[in-house]
Amino acid sequence: MCPRRFVFIAKALAGFSLEVSLSMIQDNIERIRSNIFEAAIRAGRKPEEIQLCAVTKMVDSKTAQEVLDAGVDILGENRVQSLLEKYEAIGNKAQWHLIGHLQTNKVKYIIDKVSLIHSVDSVHLAEEINRRAQMAGKVIDILVEVNVSGEASKFGVAPGNLEPMLENLALFSNIRLRGLMTIAPKQEKVGANRKYFSKLHELFVDIRSKKYDNSNIDTLSMGMSGDYVEAVEEGATIVRVGTALFT
Ligand SMILES: *Cc1c(COP(=O)(O)O)cnc(C)c1O
Repeated sequence: MCPRRFVFIAKALAGFSLEVSLSMIQDNIERIRSNIFEAAIRAGRKPEEIQLCAVTKMVDSKTAQEVLDAGVDILGENRVQSLLEKYEAIGNKAQWHLIGHLQTNKVKYIIDKVSLIHSVDSVHLAEEINRRAQMAGKVIDILVEVNVSGEASKFGVAPGNLEPMLENLALFSNIRLRGLMTIAPKQEKVGANRKYFSKLHELFVDIRSKKYDNSNIDTLSMGMSGDYVEAVEEGATIVRVGTALFT
């Protein structure tokens, strides 16, 4: 019996009341993984190239721990405060990803805890991450957030400003640029975000060919509960899924 199954059954036998939600989470993960698998195959991609980041911002630490127990290693939080609270409870058994807007003055709290920052949107922020990473004696992986939809409410650099920004980032030797991220608009219609994902993929291929210093570009973070299938079809290497895990 695999250890995860065993833990699950042991918890059920011990009378834990979370049995239902745990099995629901497991079913959801299985469904999401199989959707990712099929989307990858349809697009002629290798399914194992695509990672699942479980976004736990709407659940407590206990439920986040269940996601780990169910076999997802990457947990994403959009706020520093909630990442710190969950880190306190769970520690480095998870790979922590910061996926939301990061204020410069909060970099110091997460620098030794996160394995990837998805949401770098200014040279100023990158400079502070570089400085703190240097103090911590590490090199930290980052993605640059691009506002491909042009929505005024969104963080992220405009596509036209991406190259000048990356030229600046290439000077920072304690950050490693791994790729790009976008948050697509909320849509009613399935497929409506495909054009934004395709655009981000185009930028990704483009910047990869530039071979910037301090970069190793292999990560494309796009797709959430409502649109991760189309994101995978358009080249996502990591999807960020919250709601679909817990409902
Ligand atoms: C909340 C959030 C997600 C997950 O959204 P769902 O629609 O719940 O899957 C993904 N990315 C970011 C940046 C988020 O803030």
